[in-house]
Amino acid sequence: MRSISIFGATGSIGQNTVDLIARDRSRYRVVAVTGGANIARLAQDAIRLNAEIAVTAHADRFEDLRAALSGSGVAVAAGEAALIEAADRPVDWVMSAIVGAAGLAPGFRALRHGGTLALANKESLVTAGPLLLAEARAHGATILPVDSEHSAVFQALAGEDIAAVERIIITASGGGLRDWPVEALARATVADAGAHPNWAMGQRITIDSASMFNKGMELIETREFFGVPPSRIETVIHPQSIIHALVGFNDGALMAHLGAPDMRHAIGYALNWPERRDLPVARLDLAQIATLEFRAPDPRRYPALRIAREVMETRGGAGAVFNAAKEIALDGFVAGRIGFMDMATVVDRTLDAMASQICLTSSMANLEEVLMTDHMARKTAWTQIAKMES
Ligand code: NDP
Repeated sequence: MRSISIFGATGSIGQNTVDLIARDRSRYRVVAVTGGANIARLAQDAIRLNAEIAVTAHADRFEDLRAALSGSGVAVAAGEAALIEAADRPVDWVMSAIVGAAGLAPGFRALRHGGTLALANKESLVTAGPLLLAEARAHGATILPVDSEHSAVFQALAGEDIAAVERIIITASGGGLRDWPVEALARATVADAGAHPNWAMGQRITIDSASMFNKGMELIETREFFGVPPSRIETVIHPQSIIHALVGFNDGALMAHLGAPDMRHAIGYALNWPERRDLPVARLDLAQIATLEFRAPDPRRYPALRIAREVMETRGGAGAVFNAAKEIALDGFVAGRIGFMDMATVVDRTLDAMASQICLTSSMANLEEVLMTDHMARKTAWTQIAKMES
């Protein structure tokens, strides 16, 4: 029986993970499940999975969680320190699906036990990729990608020599605004940008998909995870979202990974690796799909891709600044303080302003430095938004 913990169990990735575990209950011993504000869902899943402990990140919600789990036999804890303590419980497999920088510390801590970290929290690789990989190496832990594109690359690389890889192509749907005239994008509302053509996801990641800040994060993630130079990493718009990524080899072969847009594929692959087991995902009917289209992303429409490339070249602290600035820019857009295309301007200006304060090219020494850079970048990004408003 495998022991597992799910960090961010109440979110979109977390719920897909819970679904897979619940279908095959007898194979797993669930140690910790964690969530944030959604106490009812956390309690319900802790009981459903017979977890040893349920943890909410919000210290002030301890009593609510305790009441919800009263008589269930599930232990209860709350607060950031409790999340770290939960990550200290050794297990074979951990899902890292907390959203944002809050996911970094529990993921780092879980690596100490040398098991497998299924990494959905892309912010960990973007902000602290080299540190995270070094921590995994130091403890003999395995990190498996959960982002569908990176899972696809990982699968295409199975049994291959990375030295024979000429290029990695990750696909992008192009988001909800991909067919809008470029000139109209500045007027896009939160509702316009928050509708995804293919994937059912939360509002924030859907808007990040329309701006391609999400794809920018994934380019950086690809660079950090697979150790391939930026010049060998490409993205192409593929409106059907059937091919998730392609790997090109030095003999001209291009290996594509195809699958229905369902995150349970990538989650299930990471859960069952190195085996493959049945997954409850739709099988593709290629004759019905009939056509797969591709087009190059227009740099005027997606400035986030240019910025991400600059960050991939700079490395050091630039990833932490990029991630923090794009989150604040998104907050500014959702709050109606800046327009859709202004998000890229905020990120550009934050990177410039931060480069004049700290050396962005130096490697991050530790997690504390990453979190400090993240904090400074958030303040700087808000300052840029305020300047744009005045
Ligand atoms: P959600 O917003 O749906 O869920 C986030 C989870 O994190 C929830 O369990 C939430 O709890 C918890 N959480 C929120 N804030 C905190 C905090 N401060 N401390 C601890 N826990 C917190 O996100 P997704 O599931 O969509 O994404 C999770 C990660 O996976 C992200 O990094 C995302 O980029 C990545 N990802 C997502 C994909 C997707 O299809 N959704 C695809 C690939 C990667 P609660 O809801 O109870 O407040």
